[in-house]
Amino acid sequence: MIQANLNRIYETIKETAMRVGRDPADIKLVAVSKNVDPDMIAEASACGQPLFGENYLQEAAAKIPSCPSNARWHFIGHLQSNKARQAVELFECIETVDSLKLAKALDKYAQMMQKPLSIFIQVNIGKEPQKSGIMPEEVLPFLRLAGIETNLKPHGLMTMPPYDPDPERSRPFFRQLREIFESARRQHLFADESRAELSMGMSGDFPVAIEEGATIIRVGTALFGQRI
Ligand SMILES: *Cc1c(COP(=O)(O)O)cnc(C)c1O
Repeated sequence: MIQANLNRIYETIKETAMRVGRDPADIKLVAVSKNVDPDMIAEASACGQPLFGENYLQEAAAKIPSCPSNARWHFIGHLQSNKARQAVELFECIETVDSLKLAKALDKYAQMMQKPLSIFIQVNIGKEPQKSGIMPEEVLPFLRLAGIETNLKPHGLMTMPPYDPDPERSRPFFRQLREIFESARRQHLFADESRAELSMGMSGDFPVAIEEGATIIRVGTALFGQRI
């Protein structure tokens, strides 16, 4: 089942990218494995999927040691700065940095452990009160500050638009984040401009996100099935 789902997702990535004149190789899939047990993760890994995403630190800490050692991990949930050390131990990328305090804590532990760590800034693109993330108009100032106050210049932006079953309704939010991303890139606010990442799009709307410029999509349900 996982092989078939992976094939279908990679096929959709390819078709969508080609349709809008993008190279499919520029789009990475983060397999979102929250509530998925290590057996299924091992199966996806054996099918060639390299990259996984987890939302909860406790769950990840319990699971990752039982998962294939070549699996690479992105953290995509809410992270408190007092958990920064554990997050740096487990993940190569924290996609959900939403405060300077957290950026500084991650920087400190990455330095201490001499681990290469990428951070993305989470953007609350729909300005939803219940969601974390930097407000869209604060992103450029925040990136500037993060670049000055830490050694961890951000590597990208991440967002989750307001939930809507119609993916077309996510398009304006994806487009808006892409515009902020391009401004930030022009102003040299990312660690590596040529490889800066734009993480957006989930099971229900990833083709639209790819059309609007996503370089990373985060897909759970369409790969592992409905979470229980
Ligand atoms: C759960 C989750 C996803 C994946 O959602 P699906 O709809 O299952 O593909 C992506 N990003 C974040 C931040 C999530 O929490």
